[in-house]
Amino acid sequence: MRKYNKEKAIVYNTVQMYRWDRITYLNELKVTSEKESFFIGMKLVRGAYIEKERERAKKMGYKDPMQKTQENTDRDYNDSVKFCIENIDKIALCCASHNEKSNLLLIDLMKQHNINVDDKRIYFAQLLGMSDHISNNMGKAGYNVAKYVPYGPVKEVTPYLIRRAQENTSVAGQTGRELSLIKTEQKRRKK
Ligand SMILES: Cc1cc2nc3c(=O)[nH]c(=O)nc-3n(C[C@H](O)[C@H](O)[C@H](O)COP(=O)(O)OP(=O)(O)OC[C@H]3O[C@@H](n4cnc5c(N)ncnc54)[C@H](O)[C@@H]3O)c2cc1C
Repeated sequence: MRKYNKEKAIVYNTVQMYRWDRITYLNELKVTSEKESFFIGMKLVRGAYIEKERERAKKMGYKDPMQKTQENTDRDYNDSVKFCIENIDKIALCCASHNEKSNLLLIDLMKQHNINVDDKRIYFAQLLGMSDHISNNMGKAGYNVAKYVPYGPVKEVTPYLIRRAQENTSVAGQTGRELSLIKTEQKRRKK
C-alpha cells in the first residue's frame, strides 16, 4: 500500500475481525497512511480459522488472539465497516461477508453518506457457491459485487474446501440460513 496506493487504493490487505486487536490496528494504519500519504485498501472479513488460531496459540503459548464471543466479532466487524465509510476519502473497502446484517449496514451507510451504489471504492464479495441471494440481488441493484473463486491444483483445493466444510462454523451457519431461504421460496412457488 505504501508503494502502490499513492493515488488510489490498488493493493488491498485483509483484516480478520474475529481478532480482538484489529480495531486498534485499523486506527493505527489510518494514522500511518496520513503521515506517509497513501490510500488504504481493506478487505474486511470475520475470519475463517478460529479453531486453528486457538489451537496454535495454546500450542505456542501466546495469548488467544480470538474474540471471546461471536457478538464481539460482529460488533467489531460492523464498527470497522462504519470506520471505513467515515473515512471513505482515504479507505477503499471490500465487505467480504455472507452476513445479511453487515451487508445491509453497509448499504444503509452508503445511503446516509450519499455514496453512489457503484462507487469504485466499495465492493461487496461472497464466495462462489455461497450466498447467491446476496450477490445476485446486490448485483441487480447496481452495487459492485465480486464472487471469490478458490482455484488451484485439485490436490490442494479439495482439502481446502473439505476443511472449510468441516471446520468453519460459519459454513454450517450460512448453509442453514440459505437452506431455510430456499425452502421458503420453494413453498412460495408451489402456492
Ligand atoms: C470474498 C471472501 C473472501 C474471504 N477471504 C478470507 C480471508 O482472506 N481470510 C479469512 O480468514 N477468511 C476469509 N473469508 C472467509 C470469511 O472469514 C468467512 O466467510 C467468515 O468468517 C464468515 O463470516 P460472515 O461475515 O460471512 O458472517 P457469519 O457467518 O455471520 O459469521 C460467522 C463468523 O463469526 C465468527 N465467530 C463465530 N463464532 C465465534 C465465536 N464464538 N467467537 C468469535 N467469533 C466467532 C467467525 O469468524 C465465524 O466464521 C472470506 C470470505 C469471503 C466472502
